[in-house]
Amino acid sequence: MVAARRIGLTGGIASGKSSVGRLLAARGLPLLDADVYAREALAPGSTGAQAVLERYGAGIRAPGGEIDRAALGRIVFDDGAERRWLEQLLHPVVRACFKAKLQELAAEPVVVLVVPLLFEAGLENLCSEVWLVDCDETQQLQRLMARDRLGEADARARIAAQWPLARKRQLADVVLNNRGGPEQLAAEVEQTQAWIRQP
Ligand code: ADP
Repeated sequence: MVAARRIGLTGGIASGKSSVGRLLAARGLPLLDADVYAREALAPGSTGAQAVLERYGAGIRAPGGEIDRAALGRIVFDDGAERRWLEQLLHPVVRACFKAKLQELAAEPVVVLVVPLLFEAGLENLCSEVWLVDCDETQQLQRLMARDRLGEADARARIAAQWPLARKRQLADVVLNNRGGPEQLAAEVEQTQAWIRQP
């Protein structure tokens, strides 16, 4: 029997995780996304939303009643203590969601877990291998500013809130090079996933 592969797909913010995730999902691989679970953890009525409301007051609520994630982002990326508080709230929920989903998908030979803070949150132990989507730090900064319409200082604060790519690079089993254009990334993923053995 071939061992089940649980691929932890990580990187830095805007290094290209979602882009690689989409390419793998298009190949039919089941994909679980930490950001989806983190959003669910703050859904209206959840314990997480309640805790955030108690800490930051009703002003953190968007007009629709949901937690205003942009406002929350501004608080936590400016203040390391607040970020750690939010992370200790969200990480256990995200881990529990991954565990439950992986149990549902137990029969799948390959599952991809997209986890931006995989190393920071210690989620390696859910994975049989870790793939890092890598690029230069100037590219990361430029892609982040363009995607999220952030000024340079805000973008730098978001990058600085995570471990640097250089540190993650040393811990990954596979490094996907996203220094070229989208076509090159697709070719890189194609090459890497060619050795994913389907049963
Ligand atoms: P992540 O999920 O790691 O935050 P994304 O996959 O969203 O990163 O990529 C960040 C931004 O950079 C997106 O706007 C994406 O379209 C763009 N991008 C990703 N890879 C490339 C690339 N190879 N060349 C140009 N732009 C890219």
